[in-house]
Amino acid sequence: MRRSLFFFLVLFLAGLGLAQQVCRYCKGNVDLQPFTYRDGVYQVCSKCRSSLPNCSLCDHPSSRPAYRDGRFICPSCLKTGMFDKTRVATLATQVQSYMSSLLGAEAKTLPPIQLVDYDEMRTKFNESGRAVDVVAFYRPYNPEMVYLLTGETEVESGSHLAHELTHAWESRACIQQDRALTEGMACWVQYQYLMSGGHSSEAQRVTRHSDPDYGASLVYLLGRSRALGNGPFIQKVRKSRNLKDV
Ligand SMILES: [Zn+2]
Ligand SMILES: [Zn+2]
Ligand SMILES: [Zn+2]
Repeated sequence: MRRSLFFFLVLFLAGLGLAQQVCRYCKGNVDLQPFTYRDGVYQVCSKCRSSLPNCSLCDHPSSRPAYRDGRFICPSCLKTGMFDKTRVATLATQVQSYMSSLLGAEAKTLPPIQLVDYDEMRTKFNESGRAVDVVAFYRPYNPEMVYLLTGETEVESGSHLAHELTHAWESRACIQQDRALTEGMACWVQYQYLMSGGHSSEAQRVTRHSDPDYGASLVYLLGRSRALGNGPFIQKVRKSRNLKDV
């Protein structure tokens, strides 16, 4: 009895030793601080916190060297992010089939998706005459395409695809519209897509978008779709020029 208690104590102390945490990067243990990375909590010491760059995706301390497009991307984001074309193609098929069930026939002929790194995204986006950083955008012609930035989570990528593909649907199914309705409707589809996958906190975040053509328009359109029902609401959107016509 005593002997087994002794062995139990040895095992318990060995377990504590394994659980004793070390810095994710240098394996040291000075002044550790926990960070919630995408795939779990990791400790980072004060020296690494002050010397390492921040991950451009999750903003926590990241390892060197930089990813091939110049961004610093931590091991957790590298492991979980969308970097693989086949994985994006599978996701795009899911998003498109959700959209055609929600929006109807025009959503069956949506444009292809191209997964691009940060440097290429900037070049493509600047070609279209705008100059801010984006994670996804829709180019209506030459060629018609949706561009998606590498490295986002699967939920983020699906959400952004739903938004950008809605712009492609609008170009097929709707009359010429103001920005509040165009962006509000893209956010509405994005919101519905997130809710359909059970991601309600991500969906709520879209309603709080700081640009009123996105956030406030979405809140208004959600009120309208609840009042009308989704089918009649979508019919109304197709024929409306301005947000307040819906
Ligand atoms: Zn360290
Ligand atoms: Zn990261
Ligand atoms: Zn948009």
